[in-house]
Amino acid sequence: MNTSANIPNTAWDALALFSGGLDSILAVKVLQEQGLNVLGLHYVSPFFGKPHLLGHWRSEYGIEVIPVDVRRPYLDMLAAPAHGYGKHLNPCVDCKILMLRHARGLLETYGAKFLVSGEVLGQRPMSQRADTLNLIRKDAGVTDVLLRPLSAQKLGPTPMEQSGLVDRERLPGIWGRGRRGQLELAEHFGVTDIPTPAGGCRLAEIEPAARYLPVLSHLADPRPEDFQLSHLGRQYWAGPFWLSIGRNEAANKAMEAATKPDDLRFRLKDFVGPLAVGRQYAPKNPVDADAARWPEAVVADAAAFAASYSPRARAEADAGRPVTVLVLRGNDAAEVRVTPARTTPLDWTEPKSAALSLWKKGRL
Ligand code: SF4
Repeated sequence: MNTSANIPNTAWDALALFSGGLDSILAVKVLQEQGLNVLGLHYVSPFFGKPHLLGHWRSEYGIEVIPVDVRRPYLDMLAAPAHGYGKHLNPCVDCKILMLRHARGLLETYGAKFLVSGEVLGQRPMSQRADTLNLIRKDAGVTDVLLRPLSAQKLGPTPMEQSGLVDRERLPGIWGRGRRGQLELAEHFGVTDIPTPAGGCRLAEIEPAARYLPVLSHLADPRPEDFQLSHLGRQYWAGPFWLSIGRNEAANKAMEAATKPDDLRFRLKDFVGPLAVGRQYAPKNPVDADAARWPEAVVADAAAFAASYSPRARAEADAGRPVTVLVLRGNDAAEVRVTPARTTPLDWTEPKSAALSLWKKGRL
């Protein structure tokens, strides 16, 4: 992701964490009103980020934004966030620390003097309490350069306000969970296209978080493309063995495009049916070594299970006839004869959201 493409040659005063949510829009507008040039940093990970909206933010709000790719460091942090998870798999405190620390490193690149964040004191139970805001500022190493303009009047003066770079008297003092202060400010700035409050972070949603969990807990080195596959189709796990089955033609195509050379692709030879992908990967736990190269019995079991998602193949099974499944790996192809079955010895199961609390307690 090119972070400097199409950026005007401006002398930037500040860099702002810019999610595209209302708070981040207003935090920039408040400073623009004081004549300061603010460049938005839109952080992108496998779980959040809408870089396709850069043009919209420029034309609708007059805010210049660049995408910033933190996929790799984000995954390193996600497996064991120092400050734990929020309601689901969202490591909000460590997420903020990671972004602010990264943004500090960009100040010199863009010649900017300070950082801006749209956090509002008391708005969220975990990450926006006063003590947590302080912890984030300290752990990210940005105490001297971070301004949270929306709650400025409720927080201590920052060096930027003390030096007169930013006029503290003109900054708001919004706090708490209500949205009235933000909506009044939006009206003041003529912001009429108000983004919905839901943040768009899939780690904070229960269903995607449940899909991500086995990827995080089984793979030694999960990559963005692993989380991408976990979004697609039906997800099944049998111990360390991971099988994705397309729900429809669109999912089949997306899964085909998402396959890697080591993946096993299962297709019915004689009937129409879904594509199934068995991802072979380096496992975290040495006892799961077979996940890297599936034994024949596992391949046959997965083939029988995947074939059961074809009504034609199931009808053959009801008539007592096995079917042929093509098993493709890169350019290699093999055939297995199986009886389609929804219940197999390996007992493929979908990820369960109940496992999230066990993972967070370190018991998974
Ligand atoms: S909701 Fe997601 S993007 Fe927002 S702070 Fe939490 S982990 Fe980060």
